[in-house]
Amino acid sequence: MLKSIYICSPMKNEVSEIVDGVSLLDIAEQVECPVYVYNQKDIAKNYHKLLKAFDGIKVRLNYACKACTNIHVMSELKKLGSGLDAVSIQEVWLALKAGFEPQDILYTPNCVSIEEIDLAVKEGVRINIDNLSILEQFGNRYGNTVNVCVRLNPHIMAGGNSHISVGHIDSKFGISIYQMRHLLRIVENYNINVDGLHMHTGSDILDAEVFLRGAELLFEAAENFKDLTFMDFGSGFKVAYKPGDIEIDIEAIGKKISKRFVSFCKSYGRELELWFEPGKYLVSEAGQLLVKTNVIKQTTSTVFVGVDSGQNHLLRPKMYDAYHHIVNISNPKGEKRIYSIVGYICENDTFGWDRQLNEVREGDILSIRNAGAYGFSMSSNYNSRYRPAEVLIKDGKFKLIRKRETFDDLIKNQIDL
Ligand SMILES: *Cc1c(COP(=O)(O)O)cnc(C)c1O
Repeated sequence: MLKSIYICSPMKNEVSEIVDGVSLLDIAEQVECPVYVYNQKDIAKNYHKLLKAFDGIKVRLNYACKACTNIHVMSELKKLGSGLDAVSIQEVWLALKAGFEPQDILYTPNCVSIEEIDLAVKEGVRINIDNLSILEQFGNRYGNTVNVCVRLNPHIMAGGNSHISVGHIDSKFGISIYQMRHLLRIVENYNINVDGLHMHTGSDILDAEVFLRGAELLFEAAENFKDLTFMDFGSGFKVAYKPGDIEIDIEAIGKKISKRFVSFCKSYGRELELWFEPGKYLVSEAGQLLVKTNVIKQTTSTVFVGVDSGQNHLLRPKMYDAYHHIVNISNPKGEKRIYSIVGYICENDTFGWDRQLNEVREGDILSIRNAGAYGFSMSSNYNSRYRPAEVLIKDGKFKLIRKRETFDDLIKNQIDL
């Protein structure tokens, strides 16, 4: 029996400031902090690891680019052979700019207008529809001239955190499997060609049993659609953030899912492709946010380390209460002491309470780990701060892939007085 679908590689907790031969301190000095740094090698390693776990079936990974939409990062994934999952027309345009072919892009929006879907059809990307009203309008416009994938909601509760559960009964995502008859009526009436079935039950699946239960419901639903070419099981691949987070054997999980998929394909009568849409799994661990210590502030209860960043640059600790490991890379031999690391935003933007770090001095560079996913892409200009620069490490060198913002960026859409 499968126990858990925490899929991740060992945590990198060591205080190393060298990544693929590149010094992070050099980056901090030349590009300055705060700066997001992504390592191409880590992205490639995780991509291949996931692919290999599903050896023996036709598997395809579509990078869920909302995790990190820098076109250089997207382009690296394309070079690895990945497809792409986009949740907005703007992400579709970014993907095309990054070099993806339209047929390698799956557009999976939620609650968008038919007009936005028209734009995606115009670009020739694959369309994933997640509600009956839009499916009806789509059928009316396009009939069987444009294939669609249908996003189903199997009502599987993924994980215990309602912030990131998208498959349960109250979820706004997907077409309920209990609406199958209505769905089929629309498909038949408009002669819609459904070529894929999709589910994405959330970002925090704790239990592989849950995952497979969802898969079984999709297999059952598939009997109603004769022209499928793929099944898309979404994501749900968790990564370890904290030392000691559960790790599981991705190979064992992959084997079980693959085996079940092969037997499904036999009964369906055709060899389908199995698609996944990992975001976090591919880029989280590959990224870190480098920040500089502005202030050490001793209070009656703790020692605060105040850094030149905050919830405006990395929202996950504030929004999801997420743990991000933090290390002092500029004083790796310093004695371990307890600190609370906070940002410079006028909010309680705590990156980490009571953390053991090598002694932190004003000016020290800290690395906030596992920041490649939902880091920059969720950043804002709150407090009228500039968003950080981004850097990619590849082949033992680093290059700037996004300039830091300037005052012009803050004022450019404001109408002159
Ligand atoms: C966000 C999202 C993903 C990626 O989730 P991760 O937890 O980052 O792997 C996949 N598919 C869809 C439809 C999404 O919205």
